[in-house]
Amino acid sequence: MSKPKVAFYWCASCGGCEETVVDLAEGVLDVVAAVDILFWPVALDFKRSDVEAMADGEFAVAFINGAICTSEQEEMVHLLRRKAQAVIAFGSCAHTGGIPGLGNLYDRESLLNRAYKETPSTANHDGILPAESLDVKEGTVTLPHFLEGCKTLDQTIPVEYYIPGCPPPVRLIKDALGAILSGKLPPRGTVLAPDIAQCDECGRKDTKPDKLMIENLKRPQEVIIDQEKCFLEQGLVCMGPVTRAGCDTPCIDGNMPCTGCLGPTSRVKDYGAKALAFLASVLDIDDESRAKEALSKLVDPEGTFYRYSVPASLLFHRRNH
Ligand code: SF4
Ligand code: SF4
Repeated sequence: MSKPKVAFYWCASCGGCEETVVDLAEGVLDVVAAVDILFWPVALDFKRSDVEAMADGEFAVAFINGAICTSEQEEMVHLLRRKAQAVIAFGSCAHTGGIPGLGNLYDRESLLNRAYKETPSTANHDGILPAESLDVKEGTVTLPHFLEGCKTLDQTIPVEYYIPGCPPPVRLIKDALGAILSGKLPPRGTVLAPDIAQCDECGRKDTKPDKLMIENLKRPQEVIIDQEKCFLEQGLVCMGPVTRAGCDTPCIDGNMPCTGCLGPTSRVKDYGAKALAFLASVLDIDDESRAKEALSKLVDPEGTFYRYSVPASLLFHRRNH
């Protein structure tokens, strides 16, 4: 019997999602034994024309990581959508926009100017910005267009499932592959991770007070962090209460608070708004000037509450549509 055909593709991301496939270690051999990987540009020499030549729906699954920030990424995911029976948004950037999505806080021109003219390490005396077409002696070269705002994968094409995380935890990838290969998949649209909060799986949960009240917010570099106690109990912003579980808490075990890469549970519409509302509810302050002083410790509020989810948020997604 022929094996299911699988594609992996990388849009706007750091590449960490693809590395987690390798992090399956010897488990990757089981994957290779169970499926035929017929498109994986980062690791195997297949071309776009190979995908174009395939029949529609020939791939059983396409795992697509990264946000959609260029016209080339848009074209490729539309092509893979046509060729795959199921598409999985793989990792935070495809799921909710991720770190590239923070660019949506600025307009396209500001981003290009910053990247190509203004960073301290840039030497671009002629102020040259990327062109979309270039005449060379062989003809005209056309380059991808940088979109006005990054999109999540499901803002670009229909998506069957999501594997969250920055990068997606190996445990979730193994579970998802097991479900795909056994044909025991949950309903379409499911995020393939436990639908409970990070706190429920956290080794520090017994030190989190039932009635939490924070007087002063602190930043991790300002304190010696207790390795056993709940971060919130120590006045440090931890996104565990509003973040989906399933990562096996590597950050927390490394003595750093959760920053929320697995995104929200199914009951939450806007991750950042939920996180902000949660934090406001545990601040033990009823005086406006003290509240302002406490919140001034949040030097990067957008990056704190919406680090991985600007494009998916209700507040910021309008520019994409
Ligand atoms: S708030 Fe953070 S440290 Fe505290 S129990 Fe939840 S996940 Fe663990
Ligand atoms: S602890 Fe939080 S930030 Fe760290 S991997 Fe898990 S969900 Fe992501």
